[in-house]
Amino acid sequence: MSEHLSHQRVGSPDLAALMTAVVRKVAAAHPQADADRLWRAFRLAEQAHSGQARQSGEPFLVHGLTVADILADLRLDSDTVMAGLLHDVVEDTTVGLDRIMADFGPDVSALVDGVTKISGIRTDNPDARKAENYRKLVLSIARDPRVVLIKLADRLHNMRTIQYLERSRQLEMAQETMDVYAPLAHRFGIARIKWELEDRSFKVLHPERYFAIESGINQSRAERERHLEEVRGPLEEALRKAGIEALVTGRPKHFFSIHRKMLAQKVGLDRIYDLLALRILVQTKADCYHALGIIHSLFTPLHDRIKDYIAMPKPNMYQSLHTTVRAPGGKYLEIQIRTQDMHERSEIGIAAHWRYKEGTRDATDFSQLVMWLRQIMEWQQDVTDPREFMESLRIDLFQDEVFVFSPKGDLFQLPRGATVLDFAFHVHSEVGLRCVRAKVNGRIVSLHHALENGDKVEIVTGQQTRATRSWLGQVRTGRAKHHLRRWLRTTQFQESLKLGRDILEREAKRKRVTLRLDADLDGLAQQMGYSEGEKLLAAVGAGDLPWQRVIARLEPPAPTPTGRVVDLGKDLYAALLRKRVGGVRIQGVDNLMVRYARCCQPIPGDEVVGVITRGRGVSVHRVACPNLGAIEEDRKLEVTWDAAPDQVFHVKLIVTANDRKNLLADLSRVIAETGTNIQSGDFAAEDDLATMTFLIEVLSLSALEKVLAAVRRVPSVQRVERFQLR
Ligand code: MN
Repeated sequence: MSEHLSHQRVGSPDLAALMTAVVRKVAAAHPQADADRLWRAFRLAEQAHSGQARQSGEPFLVHGLTVADILADLRLDSDTVMAGLLHDVVEDTTVGLDRIMADFGPDVSALVDGVTKISGIRTDNPDARKAENYRKLVLSIARDPRVVLIKLADRLHNMRTIQYLERSRQLEMAQETMDVYAPLAHRFGIARIKWELEDRSFKVLHPERYFAIESGINQSRAERERHLEEVRGPLEEALRKAGIEALVTGRPKHFFSIHRKMLAQKVGLDRIYDLLALRILVQTKADCYHALGIIHSLFTPLHDRIKDYIAMPKPNMYQSLHTTVRAPGGKYLEIQIRTQDMHERSEIGIAAHWRYKEGTRDATDFSQLVMWLRQIMEWQQDVTDPREFMESLRIDLFQDEVFVFSPKGDLFQLPRGATVLDFAFHVHSEVGLRCVRAKVNGRIVSLHHALENGDKVEIVTGQQTRATRSWLGQVRTGRAKHHLRRWLRTTQFQESLKLGRDILEREAKRKRVTLRLDADLDGLAQQMGYSEGEKLLAAVGAGDLPWQRVIARLEPPAPTPTGRVVDLGKDLYAALLRKRVGGVRIQGVDNLMVRYARCCQPIPGDEVVGVITRGRGVSVHRVACPNLGAIEEDRKLEVTWDAAPDQVFHVKLIVTANDRKNLLADLSRVIAETGTNIQSGDFAAEDDLATMTFLIEVLSLSALEKVLAAVRRVPSVQRVERFQLR
């Protein structure tokens, strides 16, 4: 049901007059358009929505007509305009898609269907519903980009009439517009709709800031116009002398973009450059560059603010030259130079492809956009968490870009916020997976270093894969996440498989039951509901299938007189297999699969227990760790310490003391005197109470106990504890 649907009706604007205006606009842009069809669509919509009203009290059809009008302003073809007129018919009335199909053909009906489907998803989880809606939205755009244009026009009219909704709903709709629809409009190059959506949402979300900017702009208007005239006069004169036919105008102000710049640059309204802004429209591309030269001969440019989006169009096809110059009086002024054609494309973006002839579509230019959308959908396919889906979609779809270079000078374009690791995956998935380190402009940086425009990025790769799960937190693009996830899934399966095999072999031996994995595995798997043996092993290794259940199905071996001899041989073999595994001995389990729990930081000497984690091997906890309480017994494994004598373990200590002079120095000294290395420390004091943390390196529990005793003896220390995450 449409948000704005209501059944009270007041007043009655002349719907036919509104439609006449729409038909005229379509006819002006597309002389071959069939006006009769348009009128038939109008009559069907009128009949379908008859008796329905908007929350504003207006007849419901005003909405469809306004949407059609916005689409006609974008000079879209009559099919799109008709679909705009009829877009709520299927969802909100008894007229079905079959009727639209019969009356107006497959194109119009496919467009209406596309728009209807996007909003027609019902689930109990609002987050999941939203994510599913956006997923459908992107899918339908990939099929026919005109669907998004109708959806944007729909949202635009709903934002124009948002005051009739309840405040809570206003906030929700404005936020969604800011998060999804304005960025979509941006991505498709429809600046006109983007600005209006942003400003209207901004006004709802932050009314005080909106009005502060509005009044600030009004107050400085006279002064600003004087500054503009001081530039405009000489500029027009110089352009005329050079024989360039140009239209020089001021530029409309967009409150939200001013607000965003104030936040980003942490400056007041008076320091925002594009408050003073001119736009120059010229005839040809050559004129653009010529005009730029003339501007720079008259006024000093700010060098880092000259941008050539003609040679390097934005991904949404925006083209223009930008420069910022010092105007008389020391004020800065931003100037955009473009041709009429570029201007139109910057205003209506992808809609420009339907502007020429009815029926013929210029499919070449946006095919790239569509391909890119399909790619994004593929990357997003395996994301199940709706919040994560939205986050990656937002980053891939909606953000600005950074341009960076490879050492050879190849240009790469990534979303703003992308890291060097994203870059590596962008070059090739193997480069990403085997990335060892990265240099930006010759300097070594961390893998999560965010890229800036113009950076030269060099990736050093190793022979083998270096990727780990933690990398998921260091990349931002869908592409990198997709490749990482796919890789993790495969390796996790392999690791779980190996761990499952190790665990079963070890436990079978301990329980003295016969396990012949090579011979019995598939049969065993089928008995337990797994299609094949490897899946059963992986389930055990991932902790999804308790190993105890598998062992329980196995028979104890029949006692034979020679059994002892055989067992001895087997045990000997097992003893040879027994490995030293990074300090913890888990018979038969490869050390790569063992890690130490960060929550309790076990060290040799602590009583410990192993926990089979889902797809991430065995994690070793202290027996005293409170987090063990939440873990099913089935997942636990016995483990014993077997650390090399020189293996160092990290432990964090938390010391509470009454603050006094030299406290930190005394503590550091006594810790050092026990022969213990302090890796890092942290100090915080509130009133008289000081809290200090030390990350120290120790070999064992006995070494740690010496440190604890020494710290306790330091005057004013009240308490010292090992770190324990709960
Ligand atoms: Mn609607």
